[in-house]
Amino acid sequence: MTPSPPEEDRAERGAQLLSELAATSPELVLLATDPEGRVAWHGTSALRELGRTPDAVIGRPLAELLAERQVESLPPFRSDASCRSGPRLLNLVAADGSVVTVRALLESGPDGLLVAGVRLAAEEARLGEELLRLTNELATANREAVRRGRELERALERLRAANEVIERLARTDPLTHLVNRRGLEEAIAHERDRAERTGEPLSVVALDLDRFKRVNDTWGHAVGDRLLAAVGEALRAGVRPYDVAARLGGEEFLLVLPATRRERAADVAERLRARVADLVVEGLPERVTSSAGVAEHARGETTEALLARADAALYEAKRQGRDQVVVAPPPEPAG
Ligand code: GH3
Ligand code: MG
Ligand code: MG
Repeated sequence: MTPSPPEEDRAERGAQLLSELAATSPELVLLATDPEGRVAWHGTSALRELGRTPDAVIGRPLAELLAERQVESLPPFRSDASCRSGPRLLNLVAADGSVVTVRALLESGPDGLLVAGVRLAAEEARLGEELLRLTNELATANREAVRRGRELERALERLRAANEVIERLARTDPLTHLVNRRGLEEAIAHERDRAERTGEPLSVVALDLDRFKRVNDTWGHAVGDRLLAAVGEALRAGVRPYDVAARLGGEEFLLVLPATRRERAADVAERLRARVADLVVEGLPERVTSSAGVAEHARGETTEALLARADAALYEAKRQGRDQVVVAPPPEPAG
């Protein structure tokens, strides 16, 4: 039996084999320093990593060479203590300027530092490709998200427009296209608040067709509807753009006239009464008269009270024989 060589011999032989391997394998990085940390020995591929000729490397402090070449790594290995690091990544700038990554074990002791590493070029390339693919995927996903976002925005815009139409329809009387009772309540509250705030006058006109029931009974409901539509059009055309003409239901209408005193509102009501009386409607061989009540907002008065006074004036116009305009007196002072 051949006696096995002493441990030291085996270790030396192993180091020799490794050094032979390092000389031929570009993937293997082997390097040793003296106790002062200067490069004492290296495999050939280590030169490429350090971007140096042998003369320029031997005897140079490794820390210095790494500092020149290293673009990024884990915290520096403590070369003052006798210990071994876990595998760490050293990103080095190679001679051609490309970055090579070496996964290395570093072992320090009284004799110096030993570095044994493997270039990660192949793995790095694979990771690089993977990274590129992921980047492209991300860009595509991003474009898609932007496109979806735009589509969503357009859909929201259409929805908003549709909502506006719905909102407007909810405040519009379909027969006359005037503001309906709901729209009127909002408009009059708004105008009443403004009048209170600015001290400007505000008047309303309640207008009701005379003996409209008879029109329906005599000429039919469809003719009655046509008359209502014509009255709506006459009212809308007969007021200023910032006035509000509303149909409260049936043949009752209400005008909201901002910045208007009762005398002027009475003129407007009178003019509209005359217009309605002149309306020519298909299937209706007679003229239809109307009555109106005018009221001017009094400071501090609620919209309900204002409308009630206009209604009372309208009732008075009916009572006095219809086909006329009556102006409501100012409200009784409180108390
Ligand atoms: P007055 O002079 O006192 O106002 O008499 P009037 O007949 O006009 O008043 P009344 O309130 O008694 O009748 C209103 C009629 O309006 C009753 C109803 O048949 C009719 N009416 C209500 N809404 C509509 C509608 O949308 N279309 C039509 N064609 N008629 C309606
Ligand atoms: Mg009527
Ligand atoms: Mg009526």
